[in-house]
Amino acid sequence: MPAFIGQSTQTLLPRGKAPRVLVVGGGWGGLTTAANLRKQAPGAEVVLIDRNPQFFSSPLSNMWLVGMVDGELLTQDYLRVSEQLGYRFVQAEVQAIDRAQRRVTTSLGTIDYDWLVLAPGIRYQYEAWFGNDRVAADAARTRFPCAYASNSEFLAIKRSLQDFKGGELVMNLPPPPQRCPPSPYERACLIAWYFKTNKIKGHITILDHKPAITPIGPGYRAAFDELYKNYITYVPNAHVQEVDPFNRRIRTRAGDQRFDHAILMAPHKAGDLAWLAGTVSDRSEGWADVDQVTMQVRGDERTFVIGDAIQAVSSLPFRYYPKSAHIANRLGRIVAYQISERLAGRAPERRLPDNLCYMVVNGTPGQALNVQFDYDFDPEGRVRQVQRDFNERTPALFQDDFRWLDFMFGEMFGGIAPPVRPNPAFRT
Ligand SMILES: Cc1cc2nc3c(=O)[nH]c(=O)nc-3n(C[C@H](O)[C@H](O)[C@H](O)COP(=O)(O)OP(=O)(O)OC[C@H]3O[C@@H](n4cnc5c(N)ncnc54)[C@H](O)[C@@H]3O)c2cc1C
Repeated sequence: MPAFIGQSTQTLLPRGKAPRVLVVGGGWGGLTTAANLRKQAPGAEVVLIDRNPQFFSSPLSNMWLVGMVDGELLTQDYLRVSEQLGYRFVQAEVQAIDRAQRRVTTSLGTIDYDWLVLAPGIRYQYEAWFGNDRVAADAARTRFPCAYASNSEFLAIKRSLQDFKGGELVMNLPPPPQRCPPSPYERACLIAWYFKTNKIKGHITILDHKPAITPIGPGYRAAFDELYKNYITYVPNAHVQEVDPFNRRIRTRAGDQRFDHAILMAPHKAGDLAWLAGTVSDRSEGWADVDQVTMQVRGDERTFVIGDAIQAVSSLPFRYYPKSAHIANRLGRIVAYQISERLAGRAPERRLPDNLCYMVVNGTPGQALNVQFDYDFDPEGRVRQVQRDFNERTPALFQDDFRWLDFMFGEMFGGIAPPVRPNPAFRT
């Protein structure tokens, strides 16, 4: 299938006879949707759009930051994947979505569709810290990026770690819901491991909005105390009140903190596309308003939103699915099934996702923790969550993390990705 790179025409893709499913956002949710649609709806035309030419995996990226994994193994070329799996890839920025006309406007032209799947990920809400002060927001984002919403920031963090000569490194966790809640603690452990291994006199302060580490709190607590006693200080209830990126200070409800370097994470909200498409009905909440089972936008049966961008799915206390790659993958499967059943004239059954996250806490030897979530319906029809934390750090869980990624990549990339393994120096 040809890609469309650098063309400029009014109608980008002429319509054929087949119904067209347009998947916008080639992250974990979008790639899974496209791959499964190709298999389950062979009569449909499947088009995937992303602004980037390549996918880069956030899962395992913390290991890449500290040199434990080769970045090439986490990177995949969209064009190659689309050719392998038999769908069309368009590299373009989506600029407008007209759900009434079923038309998407991109930087290269317009694309009409019959079914639309939005998998836009998240955006940062720097306004919560800086109001309308764009200069301060830009300074925080460019000098102290966190690489949670933008892949291009990963390289900046890696370089800043390589240049770090020692001193105080501050990391903050925003209020929930946030993308991948356990991964900032994983990042802190791996950076501390990197300091320790390379004899860098660095110290990490974790400023957490929450009252305690969660999930896998006891496992992380043990790693902080037993492996990184002189490297990590954990501060709970650290609600951010003021950030000064110029003088390197952060004021929280738990006290003031000066820093030499920081990984600053503004609160998370649904990605821009969810707002652009008019799917965010509660603007202060800031997530896409979808049916909690079908992922259809309320009042619009032809548009689905999946992945991190969706709102709460239950009135029970957990409220949100964890904003994880695993959940995005499962919701991608569910939506591909929903659309293919509808195209075949059948009524889809109700399906729920599951979630699984491995979090690495040590490099030598490689050791990881694990958290699992299962979902079903309670007698009142609400989505119910059962969470299981595996707090004992083990080499077996470390190995399982790589197996998990291989399995996911197998589904998303159709078997063209080589197995992901730690760099030989870190094999356990
Ligand atoms: C450091 C870190 C570690 C993590 N570790 C794990 C882990 O171990 N396990 C796990 O399950 N999860 C993990 N996650 C979370 C996981 O990465 C996210 O939950 C997942 O990426 C969500 O998938 P998504 O499809 O919703 O969004 P994304 O993967 O962010 O995809 C969104 C896509 O939309 C595209 N896009 C957005 N706007 C436009 C536009 N206007 N035009 C064109 N394209 C656009 C973007 O380029 C992007 O490719 C981690 C995240 C981070 C940051």
